[in-house]
Amino acid sequence: MSELQHVVTIDGPSGVGKSTISRRIAAGIGFTYLDTGAMYRGVALFLEQHGVDLAEEIAVRQALAGIEMRLLPAAGEDQDVGVVINGEDVSGLIRTPEMGMLASKVSALVPVREKLTEMQREIGQVGRIVAEGRDTGTVVYPKAFCKFYLDAAPEVRARRRILQLREQGTEMDEQELLAMIIKRDRDDQQRTIAPLKQAEDAVLVDTGPLDIDGVCEVMFKILRRKLAQDL
Ligand code: C5P
Repeated sequence: MSELQHVVTIDGPSGVGKSTISRRIAAGIGFTYLDTGAMYRGVALFLEQHGVDLAEEIAVRQALAGIEMRLLPAAGEDQDVGVVINGEDVSGLIRTPEMGMLASKVSALVPVREKLTEMQREIGQVGRIVAEGRDTGTVVYPKAFCKFYLDAAPEVRARRRILQLREQGTEMDEQELLAMIIKRDRDDQQRTIAPLKQAEDAVLVDTGPLDIDGVCEVMFKILRRKLAQDL
């Protein structure tokens, strides 16, 4: 038995298609999908709702001691996972672009990262998960048996997100969204703790020229090979 964990990690910048792809990959190999971004979004909302001063580390730590978070399975292949915090279903509230920006801000705080990394590792101990995020391959599950890093140009990601939002009935200015994406990437890449980056042993997949089916096909091929090897 090797030290590798039965965990697949899928990291990359915002809007690269990670969620849809991760859900499909998880369903295809019979693993549970873990959306770590939803956890950061949930914490961001919680700290905002409680008026916690993000500059006060002790206050953030104390607030986090009172948080009880549960993830709800996605209702369908194209649906996001849900989040319940202290009994309140906040699934809809966490999915706005603004909450993505706030999640990026709180995700640079040491107590937030410590708390969520610990929760994610506990979930991972059971194994058989596909974890999606920014640092799942580098920090949370360094011994994951298969790691992917998805990337695409910011303009491609902005366009896709605009179309996705439109499908959900929301219109947004493309240039404004592009600026948000570029800022979020830069903040995520430049933070000192668990920055967004490709793990050395992660497979890089450029999702720019491929559609979702094409990306999944590439990933399934790699995964099947790895799963066939004895862990
Ligand atoms: O993936 P999603 O857009 O939901 O993530 C929201 C934010 O949460 C990201 O911009 C990032 O700052 C943060 N995050 C993180 N580490 C993770 C997952 C998300 O820092 N593993």
